[in-house]
Amino acid sequence: MKSARALVRAAEPAPLWATARRPLQTTDRPVPRRSDVVVIGAGYTGLWTALYLKRLNPALDVVVVDAEGVGHGASGRNGGWCSALLPFTLTDIARQHGHQTAVDMRLCALNNFNDMRTVLSGLAIECDYVSGGTLTVARNRIQALRLEHELSEARLFGASDSDLRLLSDLSSSQHVHVSSTEGALFTPHCAALHPRKLVDGLARACLKLGVVICERSRVEHFTTGHVEILHDDHRTSISCQWVVRATEGYTARFRDSRRTLLPLYSFMVATEPLNEANVQDLRWTKRETVHDARNGVVYAQLTADNRIAFGGRGAPYHYGSRIRDSFDFDDSVHASLVETLHDFFPVTRDLAITHRWGGPLGVPRDWRNFVRVDENRRVATGGGYSGDGVSLAHLTGRMIAHAITRQPHADLTLPWFGHENPTWEPEPLRWLGVNTLRLLVDSIDETEQRRCRSSRIRSTVVDRFF
Ligand SMILES: Cc1cc2nc3c(=O)[nH]c(=O)nc-3n(C[C@H](O)[C@H](O)[C@H](O)COP(=O)(O)OP(=O)(O)OC[C@H]3O[C@@H](n4cnc5c(N)ncnc54)[C@H](O)[C@@H]3O)c2cc1C
Repeated sequence: MKSARALVRAAEPAPLWATARRPLQTTDRPVPRRSDVVVIGAGYTGLWTALYLKRLNPALDVVVVDAEGVGHGASGRNGGWCSALLPFTLTDIARQHGHQTAVDMRLCALNNFNDMRTVLSGLAIECDYVSGGTLTVARNRIQALRLEHELSEARLFGASDSDLRLLSDLSSSQHVHVSSTEGALFTPHCAALHPRKLVDGLARACLKLGVVICERSRVEHFTTGHVEILHDDHRTSISCQWVVRATEGYTARFRDSRRTLLPLYSFMVATEPLNEANVQDLRWTKRETVHDARNGVVYAQLTADNRIAFGGRGAPYHYGSRIRDSFDFDDSVHASLVETLHDFFPVTRDLAITHRWGGPLGVPRDWRNFVRVDENRRVATGGGYSGDGVSLAHLTGRMIAHAITRQPHADLTLPWFGHENPTWEPEPLRWLGVNTLRLLVDSIDETEQRRCRSSRIRSTVVDRFF
């Protein structure tokens, strides 16, 4: 059997999803000189914002510009989990905003997940969407205790048995079989989808509504009513009423926002297709998304053509929040992902790794996603999904569009609207802190797995700062 490192070196260094890319016919038109709204970033957030703006007011001129192209960022590379998950804990929300607000935010995330499915089906966007739920498995006793805690927290904020339930014996359940588990939590509120098909489908829906999409158009600077763009090496500008910044993991590239969102890299690998017997043996017939209850993050989905797309965090943070194409690949992080994949699903040891890739996602200092609409500057922004943006970007786009067109919406009454996140520490503290915590999280997970013991001191440090 080949080593994990040899397997990743043989893989194509590109997102699996890119193979589904079809030309969009967006780029032949010149960048307009004026528009009512300029949206920066053609990922899910920017495109949902544009789509809702046109739905709420078809007379608005909306231009979406992207430095590279539609879905170049996380929206074209992610793990395809479309969930009702939130990046923060409801206990923290209850502490700051009261119990009822936490209950309302959980319900809002759930409604958003359901609404997005309805909208996608109304738009006839085919993105291999299958609503099979999510399984969080416990692979040691400490993880099992964590799941019990997660369940009792969810119950406190209104989750019923049909939202979340404990499966004490996974082997007798009808769910996907992960090796060496000590139970699992199951929620039906998650779908697996094809990220590239989703982002391209959204772009096409926007074009149909009359949105102008300009690719290879990097915004160098913007102020109220004015956006400066480098388009194919030519400088140009657009005057506008509103600017919406939807740049998530790339936000730190803007000089005034270096410490707003930390670009944290997440990496993925994909296997060659499993045969039908393997799928049946694993009991992975409903395409549930799967992860475990470690402190770090790993995530898996079975694609429509029966490959396993497996991802995880754990890549180094780069000094000064730098983002480079070369950071999308790291042999040792990719190899360690493959080892975890083999450990989860031993049958994959005989499979080739066909693709590997990575990309930055945006993490705010308090892990709380936000929408801010500044009526005076006429600038709106949203993001900070910390890895849960496939569905939360829909919530954000809908909120921004309602706020700009001054139309009421219940989501605008919840505290992600107008939330001011604290900024990240200046360098070198940021680099030192984030990379130390990253190593600490790995070492806690290793201790929990090997010795079935939790490390109270290290866990307190991580909880305190992350
Ligand atoms: C490997 C990976 C796996 C993930 N898995 C999941 C998952 O399974 N489920 C989940 O919910 N979330 C996941 N996420 C996170 C999720 O993909 C993101 O939260 C979501 O796609 C964010 O969408 P966005 O439109 O806000 O940002 P992006 O998709 O990153 O789009 C931002 C766009 O802005 C453009 N841009 C940046 N700067 C400029 C500029 N100056 N001028 C013009 N354009 C600019 C970029 O080119 C980019 O296209 C994952 C992320 C990664 C990287």
